[in-house]
Amino acid sequence: MGSEGQYLLAASDGEPLSFPAEDVALVETANGIELKGEAYPVLVAWLRRLNEDHLTLLDSQSKAYLKKLFIGEVQRLIDEAVSVGMPESRLQELRGRIAGKIETTAGNAPRQLKKLRSTEEGEREKLVGAYLRAARWCASEDLRQVAAALLSHAQELWPCEEAVELAAEWLPAEYPFVVNNDSPQQWIRWSRELLPAGARFIPRDDPAWKAVAGTTWAKNVIGLRTKNIELLTHSQDPEVLGACLRSGEAALRTLEKLVGREDSERSRERLQVRIHADREAYLSEHTPSPFDRSWTAGYYSPSERVSRFYVPTSRRGADATNRKLHKTFAHELTHQYLSQCWLPTKGTASGSTTTPGYWVVEGFARFIEEQVVELGRLGNDLQDETAMALDVSSGLQAREGLLPTGALIKMSHGDFDMLPNEAIGELSLRHALLELQITPKTIFYSQAGAVTYFMMHERGDEGREALLKFMRLYYTTPSRDPVWETLGFESEEQLVKGFERFLERLAG
Ligand SMILES: [Zn+2]
Repeated sequence: MGSEGQYLLAASDGEPLSFPAEDVALVETANGIELKGEAYPVLVAWLRRLNEDHLTLLDSQSKAYLKKLFIGEVQRLIDEAVSVGMPESRLQELRGRIAGKIETTAGNAPRQLKKLRSTEEGEREKLVGAYLRAARWCASEDLRQVAAALLSHAQELWPCEEAVELAAEWLPAEYPFVVNNDSPQQWIRWSRELLPAGARFIPRDDPAWKAVAGTTWAKNVIGLRTKNIELLTHSQDPEVLGACLRSGEAALRTLEKLVGREDSERSRERLQVRIHADREAYLSEHTPSPFDRSWTAGYYSPSERVSRFYVPTSRRGADATNRKLHKTFAHELTHQYLSQCWLPTKGTASGSTTTPGYWVVEGFARFIEEQVVELGRLGNDLQDETAMALDVSSGLQAREGLLPTGALIKMSHGDFDMLPNEAIGELSLRHALLELQITPKTIFYSQAGAVTYFMMHERGDEGREALLKFMRLYYTTPSRDPVWETLGFESEEQLVKGFERFLERLAG
């Protein structure tokens, strides 16, 4: 390691290159390879290399099919190129090649096609070999989850028995399911879903299980752990749980950068999270602080320091606002982080029920839920103007359907509870193919999310600081004082005007 958290890479010719420590995943030392931080970047580095070979294969094979005018085959390869992320310029070139061309009707076409397909198969097998070599290398360096994720990508290229055999060899000791013929294939699926979040199964002999002994969370449950989350769940769906962990973990890492973390042992504990397999189990769980959960898809319970969710049976249209589970997950974990990690000793969990300014609690959670991009995807600048809260708010403003913004800013938790949750109309969104049922409560959530976005992005650094200051005051020092000054405005009218102009701009 070089100076001040930098690694130096000695080049065989020329100057050594310097990298910041946080950008380095693996370091080669005299004792072999050493993993720094998380394993996911190792997968990304391998895929960057192998993906290029995959695209080259698709390009060269499409030329071979084109020559004999098998246009359908070329189209199949173009579709695959899209799914593996071929850059747009190269895609356009590929598409250009088949424009106006007509499928072959030659008499010997079936024989030709057979020959070309066999060539393609040979090329794919060669490339799969490169994926398997990469996977073997990772396994030999104790990076078995990366190895299994590479097998998943290899199988997309060409299904092969060898990948399954290798996965069987690399099945980790903590794998929680009964090991049977299907296990290697399942482990490949799990690895790919869990790796971006840095998630691992909690072993059966882990102390975490003691804490839940005798509860509904002791039997037929799997445990998953990331840097910031400890999840126990009755659901065993790798895609659903993977999406939750990637999005929850991304939310928590963003929050730590945005608002910081209190310097205390308690604030560093992993957030406890539970996911029920279905709504019925979620509603019937016995908890110390019962309340009406029937209109929720998940909630954070401050007194127990736990968030709970269920997996909706229909993934579309499961609730009125059509939020996917992983969005709800990031939302509730935001409440949990602010309460347990940001202000664990100074703040009340959610302010008092009469403090004005409850919009900041729900608005900020809505902002994080909508703006944070899950781990493993690009683009985390928190500036997505197509987000639903903005879409709904600008749409409603155009037909004068919003709550009066000044009144919204002054509402307390108690005022919010009084808002009805019955549909009062429908709204077509501009950025999603969706007819949304509107209730006063959903208006509150969207409008609060839009005000948060407005404060985060439309008023520069000062706006962002004012927002965070306002949020801290809301949680720590309940007061009924006018809020405009704290938010950086001279008057209620000035804030309302600024917000309205912002929504008008969005409406275009
Ligand atoms: Zn909330």
